[in-house]
Amino acid sequence: MTVQATGCRTAPVLKQRGQREVFCGLTGIIWLHRKMQDTFFLVVGSRTCAHLLQSAAGVMIFAEPRFATAILEEGDLAGLNDAQDELDRTVAQLLERRPDIRQLFLVGSCPSEVIKLDLSRAAERLTVAHAPAVRVLNYSGSGIETTFTEGEDACLAAMVPVLPVSEARELLIAGALPDVVEDQMLGLLADLGIGPVRCLPARSREAEVGVGPNTVFALVQPFLGETCAALQRRGARHVAAPFPFGAEGTTAWLRAVADAFDIDDATFERVVAAPRDRARRAVAQASEPLGGKSVFFFPDSQLEIPLARFLTTECGMTAIEVGSPYIHDAIHGPDLDLLPANGTGGPTISEGQDVDLQLDRARDARADLTVCGLGLANPLEAEGLTTKWAIELVFTPVHFYEQAGDLAALFARPLRRRALIRSVAPALAAAE
Ligand code: SF4
Repeated sequence: MTVQATGCRTAPVLKQRGQREVFCGLTGIIWLHRKMQDTFFLVVGSRTCAHLLQSAAGVMIFAEPRFATAILEEGDLAGLNDAQDELDRTVAQLLERRPDIRQLFLVGSCPSEVIKLDLSRAAERLTVAHAPAVRVLNYSGSGIETTFTEGEDACLAAMVPVLPVSEARELLIAGALPDVVEDQMLGLLADLGIGPVRCLPARSREAEVGVGPNTVFALVQPFLGETCAALQRRGARHVAAPFPFGAEGTTAWLRAVADAFDIDDATFERVVAAPRDRARRAVAQASEPLGGKSVFFFPDSQLEIPLARFLTTECGMTAIEVGSPYIHDAIHGPDLDLLPANGTGGPTISEGQDVDLQLDRARDARADLTVCGLGLANPLEAEGLTTKWAIELVFTPVHFYEQAGDLAALFARPLRRRALIRSVAPALAAAE
């Protein structure tokens, strides 16, 4: 009798809350400001917030950046100054100097939350003051409230209520992708005969979408829980699908979208066959060092479940633990359905983090590859574990067919590096 491999959607989830090792939601500004060309992000925060943005997005020194920090000084924090007046002055000066700005986000941070600065009221007031040239919105990127990729979710969710009403039957794709990857996706959807297609975030306010009960939307990022709920509140219909990572993930995502638009099998096959085959070959080649190896994911970006699905079903790896900051059944369920149980009762699916307990599990497991944040990687490497920096998975183009081989290569690289070190270590020791 053969035992059918089953997915992990109904597996018990280990939920822990303790110390976390993740970036705050301000980090999303780094990729969002590149995507939204006429938008400015004004962080209402401390010098720590300014340092985070400047060091993380240091590439911007050659151009006038579209993000800044309005620093809350000690006096503001003590409630001595009227921070609202100060904010109005800062915004007025900024918009006078930058007439190209059409949308401004006031981004909350830990200090603005601590002093309970009401940024939604400020955004309403400033929208009235600067309309119609500029729309002012707000969201929180504070480390108290958000982890890493939740900043993008909060930003997109803030836009949904102000999008115009549309009655048209349109496809809306939610989630920021690098322009080149977005263009590849739009090309595939156009070849399938699906349209019109709009993207959230749009590259400019002019290109913005309408939304309504005939809008069908799909996510390309698995961390958009709030955005998904906000679109559903506007009457839009969510197409649940595995995420478009690898040859099979991309095919499954496209198939779900194509089904929502009644695209026939023959058309689908004609469009996807060539890029899918290219992606399969690229993955097979790049994933050679991954076959038969084990992987352990610390929670970081909410990409973990779809990536574990990719590594196990397309690259031959076994997942020991798959940690995610948050798990939403409607969003992560289709990938969990495909994530194979590993035959020993695992993988452990964990939500949230108590970092010390999880480090104990990672040390016990000694997976061939441990995917974790920067802060954990060095100590674990020193203990002989091979690690992959999770943040690279967010900053590198990894979606859809043309990036499938690169995605496998990102995971293969640390294993190759470790094998190389092991192979030269005896020679180095002998030479000493
Ligand atoms: S929002 Fe909070 S966690 Fe993020 S940089 Fe500012 S102070 Fe630090």
